[in-house]
Amino acid sequence: MSGKKDLKILKLYKVEDNKVVRLKKVCPKCGRFMAEHEDRYHCGYCGYTEFKQNIEKKYIKEIGIQI
Ligand SMILES: [Zn+2]
Repeated sequence: MSGKKDLKILKLYKVEDNKVVRLKKVCPKCGRFMAEHEDRYHCGYCGYTEFKQNIEKKYIKEIGIQI
């Protein structure tokens, strides 16, 4: 990559030894780890659902990672 990109998505991923590591998403309501679905995250404890943002899909497409 050239230049610096300030993408919010970087909070969900980090790169270690040339591998993309997914960081678990935490529920903003109860603080537990959320279950991941194809298009959303869901907390099985309190029922909170958060849809994935388009920027994430765009970023995944850009770097071509498999999830
Ligand atoms: Zn929750």
